[in-house]
Amino acid sequence: MAEIILNSLAHSYKASPQSREDYAIRKMTHTWRNGGAYALLGPSGCGKSTMLNIISGLLTPSEGEVMFDNQDVSQLAPQERNIAQVFQFPVVYDTMTVYDNLAFPLRNMKTPEAKVRSRVSEVAELLELNNVLDKRASNLNADEKQKVSMGRGLVREDVSAILFDEPLTVIDPHLKWKLRRKLRQIHEQFHITMIYVTHDQLEAATFAEEIAVMYDGAIVQFGSPRELFERPNHTFVGFFIGSPGMNLLPVQRTSDGNVSFEDMPFSLTDVQRGVLESTDSKNIKVGIRPEFVHVWQEKREDSWEVPIQHVEDLGTYKIVTAMFGTLPIKLRIAEEAPIPQGHAHISFPAQWLKLYIDEYLAGEPEESASATGGQDAN
Ligand code: ADP
Ligand code: MG
Repeated sequence: MAEIILNSLAHSYKASPQSREDYAIRKMTHTWRNGGAYALLGPSGCGKSTMLNIISGLLTPSEGEVMFDNQDVSQLAPQERNIAQVFQFPVVYDTMTVYDNLAFPLRNMKTPEAKVRSRVSEVAELLELNNVLDKRASNLNADEKQKVSMGRGLVREDVSAILFDEPLTVIDPHLKWKLRRKLRQIHEQFHITMIYVTHDQLEAATFAEEIAVMYDGAIVQFGSPRELFERPNHTFVGFFIGSPGMNLLPVQRTSDGNVSFEDMPFSLTDVQRGVLESTDSKNIKVGIRPEFVHVWQEKREDSWEVPIQHVEDLGTYKIVTAMFGTLPIKLRIAEEAPIPQGHAHISFPAQWLKLYIDEYLAGEPEESASATGGQDAN
């Protein structure tokens, strides 16, 4: 098992990269601590597979180092790195039996046959492959093949880390849920460093203790599911995490040091006003999650009256779409809360109104907002 440090790492698939756009991974430093269960979450094309392949050694980075427990492994071949990697599509030897497929990584390491037998049967048991151990891999269905592929990744106990690159994509939804739980269970049992790549926020949140959100070649936030929800560090995290995502409004500076959206003024906190003053960026946004917008029955001193466009009933809650000036805004209301008719009165609690300058969160108090606790009930 190992701590994995990516030190000033950058990667371009071009021989002589010119601009920022030429990089699949933009210069970054990141630590995956020993024994953690991590998800690497981001949309297609943001650089997730590139990063995994750099960790496993399938790719050599254009810049920077990969360190395992303070040892620079950048120049080591994949076999020398002691890493297991499971891919999106099954990698199995069709002519071998399932047993021999699972035994392969162990025999490769000259593991004694008795030990091979006990590990293979353990993993087969875990993945429910016992009944097919004698079958040739070519006779398996797609789900079974991928389970064998995962089993090959899990069979060695001595690996530094296990990397999963969207391993459940081809798996049937019910089995998907089960396998994800198994992986979690394996992690709890063996505490092997695991990095699980996915583009699905639910999958990330159910597997991982900490999630690295990747966007456009960079990790824009690394934190617990709750931190990503309560304190998105980048507008992309606000928008990508949550269902629906954060409301984001492009705003203008006002003469008193606050901001406004289409002539509707927002009062910022002192800390937010402070950082705003310290930059001359014009790319300023405020963001608030649908869960944190207050919906009132009556007009209040600090509320806006907004026309309602649409109400979507999702069983245990409702998502209301209202117009805030010319932009639609989403509000989440509890099942038992009365549905506002025609218009709603809404306000934005200061604690949950986030300020973004050049797409990054700005002007938060030193203590994490998550430390102050729970969601507002509305
Ligand atoms: P993800 O796994 O998040 O979908 P990738 O790491 O596969 O993203 O790709 C990141 C970027 O690098 C994309 O723009 C992709 O087109 C590009 N890319 C990936 N592999 C190659 C390659 N072998 N040659 C050139 N460009 C590539
Ligand atoms: Mg990929």
